[in-house]
Amino acid sequence: MQNIHLDTIRINTLSSQLLYDKSVALHVLRADEIHPVISGNKWFKLRFYLDEAKLLDKKSIITFGGAWSNHIAATAAVCKYNNLKSIGLIRGEEPSSLSDTLQNAREMGMKLYFLSREDYRIKKIPAHINLHEHYVINEGGYGIKGAQGAATLLDHCDYTQYTHICCAAGTGTMTAGLLMKALPDTTVICISVLKNNFSLADNIHSLLSYSPKNLVIIHDYHFGGYAKKTDELIRFMNKYYSDTKIPSDFVYTGKLFFAVNDLVEKKYFPPGSKILILHSGGSQGNNSLENGTLIF
Ligand SMILES: *Cc1c(COP(=O)(O)O)cnc(C)c1O
Repeated sequence: MQNIHLDTIRINTLSSQLLYDKSVALHVLRADEIHPVISGNKWFKLRFYLDEAKLLDKKSIITFGGAWSNHIAATAAVCKYNNLKSIGLIRGEEPSSLSDTLQNAREMGMKLYFLSREDYRIKKIPAHINLHEHYVINEGGYGIKGAQGAATLLDHCDYTQYTHICCAAGTGTMTAGLLMKALPDTTVICISVLKNNFSLADNIHSLLSYSPKNLVIIHDYHFGGYAKKTDELIRFMNKYYSDTKIPSDFVYTGKLFFAVNDLVEKKYFPPGSKILILHSGGSQGNNSLENGTLIF
């Protein structure tokens, strides 16, 4: 059994001609390194849900996700380590061969049930599951406790020094969490990894119960949509790794690093800016790529 290693969270200070030319400082908070499976923000988003489940004396967690979901991978592992049962309700019919993510989740003891896309859309829990025995966590850990957990990511750096904090957004839970903690004059920029997900702003606002003035949502770097990719993105991720030794995933952090790099090139950040990028992990999702696609 592997523990979560919060003490391993480092800050990388990047240096490049580009950063020098534009007079901006760029730090990367390496929350991807806390654990081989439970990488990045998923543990932070889960932590307060687990506390509540234990408080309510629930013995089992139910949650939702797709075949390559980082949230499913993390929930399965976290439940195993906490001696909780887990059930994953998975989008789509059961495939003839399971994805690595689902295989690993099953090995961690997660029971998998496959929902038709229609049932998944309405998050229909199979009738034989007695809800009273379980603690239900939303898809992606979306919710206030998820955001409060994500806010504690910032305990691992001196967050007050940054003019900008940048992260990738799916449900927006992590973004909301960062906004809970960041100073009001720090701009929190989230890169939406879904195509035209314009409900993201409302979803973030409803977790916060206010509309933050220091939030910027950028919709221009989805590369075709959720879990879609282009050759340009993959080339960028490989180059980024050779330049910085920082690995990324093609669903979230690859798009985030690409976006921040592009924004720096376009002089989005005023000279003197001090930027923190949140490396939220997600490397297990790269297992869905053909071997040899990435150099790391
Ligand atoms: C889930 C995930 C995100 C997005 O987090 P949200 O809180 O859903 O916006 C970002 N990065 C990685 C690596 C993730 O797994």
